[in-house]
Order: sequence, then C-alpha cells, then structure tokens
Amino acid sequence: MLETSLKLLKKIENHGFKAYIVGGFVRDYLLNRPSLDVDIATSATPMDIKRIFKDIFIPKVEYGSVTVFYHNIRFEITTFRRELSYINNRKPIEFEYIDDLYEDLQRRDFIINTICMNSDGEIIDLLNGKNDLDKKEINTVGDSYKKFAEDSLRILRAIRFATILDFKLSDEIKDAIKLTKHNLSSLSYQRKKEELNKIFSSKNARYGISLLQELELDKELELYNLEDITLNVDIIGTWASLNISENYPFSRNERELIKKIREAVTKDNLNNEVLYQYGLYVNSIAGAMKGIDKKKITKKYEELPITNIQDINISGDEIMHILNKKGGPYLKSIYGDLVSLILNGKIENDNNLLKNYVVNNY
Ligand code: ATP
Ligand code: MG
Repeated sequence: MLETSLKLLKKIENHGFKAYIVGGFVRDYLLNRPSLDVDIATSATPMDIKRIFKDIFIPKVEYGSVTVFYHNIRFEITTFRRELSYINNRKPIEFEYIDDLYEDLQRRDFIINTICMNSDGEIIDLLNGKNDLDKKEINTVGDSYKKFAEDSLRILRAIRFATILDFKLSDEIKDAIKLTKHNLSSLSYQRKKEELNKIFSSKNARYGISLLQELELDKELELYNLEDITLNVDIIGTWASLNISENYPFSRNERELIKKIREAVTKDNLNNEVLYQYGLYVNSIAGAMKGIDKKKITKKYEELPITNIQDINISGDEIMHILNKKGGPYLKSIYGDLVSLILNGKIENDNNLLKNYVVNNY
C-alpha cells in the first residue's frame, strides 16, 4: 500500500504538481495500525487529476474531492484549499484552491490528522503531530471552539479518534464540545449513525461511551438510555439495546430485526419454542445482551427436533386425507399445535405417531 501510494505521488509530481499523503494513512502508519484507504493532498485541481488519471477518476460532490482507484487501492485526492465559509455548522460552501501545503493543513480538524508523507516516504510534520501521537492526545488545529462551531461532525470525529486510538481529548477540546454540542442537532442522522457505528464497534467502545456521557452528548444525539447499552459483535444488536430517535436511518429489514431482538430479549433464549420462533441469529444477539453464552444457545438450537414447519413429518395432504376435509385455516392451527407438542417433547416427530395423533385429536 505504501509503495503504491508513493508511486501515485510521483505520478502527480511528474506532471508538475505537489502531492503528499496526509491524514489517516500517515497517522495509522506511525501508530502501526492498518489503513483501508489513502488521502492525498495536492496542488493539482480535480481537473488536473482527471487528466493525469484519465479513466479511473470519480468526481465526488462531498467536500469537492475526487476518488481514484489505483492498483486496487482507494485514493481520496483533495486539492490544497482554504475554506471560506460554512453552512449549517457543516460543510464549507465556499473554498479556494491554493498552492501551499501548510495553509491546507490549517483547515483540517486535528493535529494528528495533519502529518504528511512525501513521495520519498519522508514524514513532513509541519504542525508537530508526532508530539500528539506520543502524548496520545487529540488537539484541534487552531482554536477548538472555532473548529467545532464550523463543523459539528468534528465533535463526533474527535470522540471516534479518541475511542479507536485510545487517546485523550485535550481540555480545550472538551470545553469547546460542551459549548458547541447543540449544533449536533443539525447534523444528518446518517452521519451521526456512521460515527456512532465506528465508536460502538471499537474494542475501546466503553471508553467512547464514557466520553459521550461525560460530555453529555447522548441526549444531544437522542440516545435516551446510553447507560443501558449492551455492546454486541453484531452492531444491530447494539442498536437494539438503545432507545433512540426514530430519525436514525435503518432499512426495513434492520428495523424488523431490531424489533425481534427487543422481543426476544424479554424471553428465555434457551427455550425450544423461543429458539424455534426467533431463530438462532436473533436469539444469539438477544442472549448476548443478557450474557448467555452463544455456544450454549447454538447447542440448544442444533438439538431442536424441528427448526421450521417443513421439518414436521406429516404433510398437509396427509392431514386432509385423514380428516377427509378440504384445506382451510384449520390446517394452520393443527400445525401450530404440532410444532408446540414436538418442541416440548410431548410427541416425537415421526410420521406414524403424528398421523395417529391427528386421527385421535381432531
Ligand atoms: P480514517 O480514514 O481512518 O477514518 P482520516 O483521518 O483519514 O481517518 P478522513 O475522513 O479519511 O479521515 O479524512 C482525511 C483527512 O481530511 C483527515 O485526516 C483530516 O485531515 C481531513 N478531514 C476530514 N474530515 C474533516 C472535517 N470534517 N474537518 C476538517 N478536516 C477534515
Ligand atoms: Mg482517511
């Protein structure tokens, strides 16, 4: 990844522009952490980049940067810029391209995100970001209050980086968040959810949650019972444990899943009928919320005599034939009885036994 990135920098430089790796990749490289994609800061404009990478250029509306897939790696290429004005405490609406890296770094959020690497692989650290990495502390580039007032997403990014990297937030950041947190109400729920997902799925999630509570962001984010959160390897289980605003975006499937998990958590997840009704996945999540070992639930589930209605060893035709009746809603009710009897061990799932049962009881 590093080699390919340096090659890409050289390619841009060969066209007469400056180019540096910046942000997450360099930060994570110095911390020995893996990165998924690479951010590039360059004096080349999106049009220049388009010319340099003819067929692999994807313009991005958001933040005016472009994405290039180069040797299967995702590069986010952003032109050096100065930001002039913001709208709704988010997203600059006006910016101008500039030719200077140092100035470009001024618009960035945190000092740890300003460390660069040049095309020779050398670290260019104009704002002394390494010092913050050593101290394990997050500081804003310039005045914290101003940074958070300009863009409230930065509040959540601060918590996210602190959580994932296990870093402290500077006192100035904490004070500024307290003064600007009300602006979170105008941040889109999609953005809030993305950042919260990253915080909740971190192995340091507990620390992130304690920061959200300490800075009283939970109410601001309409997370009404953050104190009750149960962290689940499956993020949907984590969301199911939270009482949140209806505005958070979830697909229909996810909403249904959340509803089922919330129901299942009130039941005995080792009970055969509950296992049958909600299935292994939902019961595992609900069980995890109550500290029930997943292996125990899986074992119980695998021992179920039936896991769905097709497993019952008597067909609808057979029942109709025995009762000498046409099909109708009564079949569903018989099957319901049989499911319950089989799951409770009252009758074996055996064709002859089931036929006899139907003959004698209906
Ligand atoms: P990661 O990619 O690991 O989530 P990152 O630091 O690379 O972290 P990106 O969202 O990829 O974050 O952004 C790349 C860089 O752009 C950041 O390091 C930062 O310098 C700058 N940046 C991103 N979002 C903002 C913002 N909202 N305000 C100011 N600067 C930002
Ligand atoms: Mg990045």
